[in-house]
Amino acid sequence: MQQARHFIDGQWCDDGRWADSLDPANGELIGRFADGDEGTARAAVAAAVSAFAKPQWSQNPRLRQQVLLEWAAALQRRQDELATLLTRENGKALAQSRGEIAGAISEILYYAGLARHNPGHVLEVAPGEFSTMLREPAGVAALIIPWNAPAVLLVRALAPALAAGCTCVVKPAPQTTLFNAALLAPLLELPSLAPGVVNLFAECGHAGAAYLVATPLVDVLSFTGSTATGTRIMQDAAPTMKKLSLELGGKSCCLVLDDVDIASVALKIAAAATIISGQQCTAARRVLVHASRAAEMKQALTAALAEIRVGHGLDAATQMGPLIDRSARDGVEQRIALALDSCDEVLLAGGRPAGLDSGAFLTPTLITHHDSAAFFCQEEIFGPLLVLETFDSESEAVQRANHSEFGLSASVWTADGARAMRLARALRNGTVWINDHNKLFAEAETGGYRKSGLGRLHGYDALLDFTELKHVYQNVGSL
Ligand code: NAD
Repeated sequence: MQQARHFIDGQWCDDGRWADSLDPANGELIGRFADGDEGTARAAVAAAVSAFAKPQWSQNPRLRQQVLLEWAAALQRRQDELATLLTRENGKALAQSRGEIAGAISEILYYAGLARHNPGHVLEVAPGEFSTMLREPAGVAALIIPWNAPAVLLVRALAPALAAGCTCVVKPAPQTTLFNAALLAPLLELPSLAPGVVNLFAECGHAGAAYLVATPLVDVLSFTGSTATGTRIMQDAAPTMKKLSLELGGKSCCLVLDDVDIASVALKIAAAATIISGQQCTAARRVLVHASRAAEMKQALTAALAEIRVGHGLDAATQMGPLIDRSARDGVEQRIALALDSCDEVLLAGGRPAGLDSGAFLTPTLITHHDSAAFFCQEEIFGPLLVLETFDSESEAVQRANHSEFGLSASVWTADGARAMRLARALRNGTVWINDHNKLFAEAETGGYRKSGLGRLHGYDALLDFTELKHVYQNVGSL
């Protein structure tokens, strides 16, 4: 049985309270994790504050690179074991777990390189008067990580924070604490990592996370999760004026123009909608198709979604696993039932698949609707629901797609490069893919417009979220 404890100030520890972690595909017990509270969070933050005060980490980019390289090398040796644990705890298909871990390792290597390239600049503002702009680590960074992609979403915050020279407190989601502890263990146990530089605590409640938000001892709070919790965090953090990085919800549209091969686009969109059982922030949620191709798209998408093979993520044939747990499955199921009752047309009514009763499974649902104000066109329903809408002109397509409080991602499907770029430019989204969907890279900044969040993770800009720019002025006079 797997076991995960907190890691604070260089020591694995617990305070005697434990919680179970269950396989969402069959309800089996996988292991247990130490269940902390505000006191655990306080201890973790105190350790990070004390480690930040020492220059050995915050002023030593070469050491930071070395630590990140050693962590990546250790993970490379454990990829298979980690992918299996990720699938067991999160439910996603094993191929997706393998891809996620490979992506996470690649991202650690990317930030290991950037650890040694964090330049400021110097200006001579008047004769002999120098303004030196130093890019300094922001201080203690607290990272609240969700369960849907717990490898990449941890690394895309932790690796830039460490590369920048911050010390960190990581709070994983209770659903994937065993996995996050296993991913972090090879880092935490490195002799080159001083006590307190990276701390980890888990909890079933929210008291520890709320402390990370409210305490003035945390300088940067990076949260990936829903817009509702992100809003609450922004309010609760306001009195401390800490830096916030918020990666929140989305409702991605796929704009399909009249010049594409509908059969192949439908297959790609079906995969984009059912990735992690529809529990990815950027998953395809609304398909806007030119009216002249709507009949073909209805048929092709229905067939593609109906053929998705649902099962335990460790089965080689599985394309889509369960939702994260039964309570998430029940919530999504209720919203889909309401959508089925009020939409224009039901093309595929998903539900609980036969023979998989002990897991949190739901098969895909496809509906059509004209009024983009409907709740199921606006609300982020975190599961395998796809809504098909039609448009007659490019401007209507853009108007429909931008009719959303979110602005995380979208895709444009066309053989015409100029139309693709014109539409990409008009969409109010942090990411727009052309003839693809869900392509995310360590090198490419990702984040949201509007209620999809604040700041960017991945890429060089993510480093900036974990730094402050200091102006040092000196008048040295002229000869
Ligand atoms: P959630 O909003 O329920 O967040 C749960 C986390 O928030 C837990 O760790 C919990 O401890 C913490 N929390 C709860 N109340 C808190 C409080 N008052 N103060 C501080 N922390 C608190 O989200 P979820 O269900 O875990 O994740 C799914 C959501 O994440 C979806 O909306 C999805 O779109 C979003 N997401 C966004 C991105 C992105 O890059 N934009 C990526 C992945 C997931």
